Amino acid sequence: MQNAKAYSATNPTSRLASATIPRRDPTENDVQIEILYCGICHSDLHQVRNEWSGVMPTVYPCVPGHEIVGRVTKAGSAVTKFKPGDLAAVGCMVDSDGTCPECLAGQEQFCPNFTLTYNFPDKHLGGVTYGGYSESIVVDQRFVLRVPQNLDLAGTAPLLCAGITTYSPMRHRNVGKGKKVGVVGLGGLGHMGVKFAHALRAHVVVFTTSPNKKEDALRLGADEVVISKNADEMQKHAGSFDFILDAVSADHDINAYINLLRRDGNLTMVGAPEKPLSVSAFGLIMGRRSLSGSPIGGIAETQEMLDFCGQHGITSDVEVIPIQKVNEAYERLLRSDVKYRFSIDMASLKAE
Ligand code: NAP
Ligand code: ZN
Repeated sequence: MQNAKAYSATNPTSRLASATIPRRDPTENDVQIEILYCGICHSDLHQVRNEWSGVMPTVYPCVPGHEIVGRVTKAGSAVTKFKPGDLAAVGCMVDSDGTCPECLAGQEQFCPNFTLTYNFPDKHLGGVTYGGYSESIVVDQRFVLRVPQNLDLAGTAPLLCAGITTYSPMRHRNVGKGKKVGVVGLGGLGHMGVKFAHALRAHVVVFTTSPNKKEDALRLGADEVVISKNADEMQKHAGSFDFILDAVSADHDINAYINLLRRDGNLTMVGAPEKPLSVSAFGLIMGRRSLSGSPIGGIAETQEMLDFCGQHGITSDVEVIPIQKVNEAYERLLRSDVKYRFSIDMASLKAE
């Protein structure tokens, strides 16, 4: 076992602060990674503040972070995919049983025995797993991704959650040319959704509560932007969407968006607000519309997404911060004041 520097929260209301955490010595299948950048996902904030207590109660101390890029420092004797010096990335999962039908289908995100990157029982050390707000991590090679050489690393980190979480449902729902696609909430996930829908050649409409994001939305690839508080603007799109991706982190009226779907249209929730949302049955019945959700994506699909980003030159628009600014970053995240993802430069942890 070895010690690593990290930032952790000790209770739902504490600020994140410097801490030391254990990391296992790499086994034969493990890759040890020096973390260079870690994105800040709104899920980190939900988890740190125990906002999902009914579904995934937080165990403290909690070290969040599941948008990880870094460099391999050690590779176990059975590791074939990586060698020291290689770039590597880790997302929201670090293990799964590898034998269930979901794993065999490459859909590890549905494995009943998966291990999430943080706040999940750690099979190796006991306690819970610790995430990427840390100088290093040790992960089974099956859950380590290859990073395209041409991409900026700070902007690549958020692809590991915000990227795959928006790419996967779009591929699943056949987003492409001739489809009208809505993206609700221009945050970390939403702005990746816009980039992917545009790259997949759909007609993209962004719904935002923030009028000051309109120009950015167009630059990111939106064909149209709707200020969602404006009922007239919303009404113009009634019954017209094939697919809407809802990436909002807080309570909001999803019926307003269900009504914008055409016959057999689908709204997929990727946002995970703290409180349940209310759904009008009539909105779904009329038009045979459907409402679904989607969690991250499988490992093979995550690699496919990274390769797609390499081919299309897609990264996240990031504001790079030192770890010492993480608490301030959380406050800004709550105000929807980030363009469009914070990426922590983990070299800043050396000063702790
Ligand atoms: P984020 O960067 O904070 O973006 C959320 C966006 O939602 C904001 O930028 C804002 O967009 C909009 N918004 C915020 N409060 C709102 C309100 N009260 N009413 C209407 N719109 C509001 O968060 P994120 O990191 O993208 O994450 C979004 C959600 O997805 C979180 O709940 C997160 O936990 C969840 N998530 C789910 C998965 C999954 O696997 N399904 C994976 C990662 C994250 P505008 O300013 O444009 O209105
Ligand atoms: Zn995330």
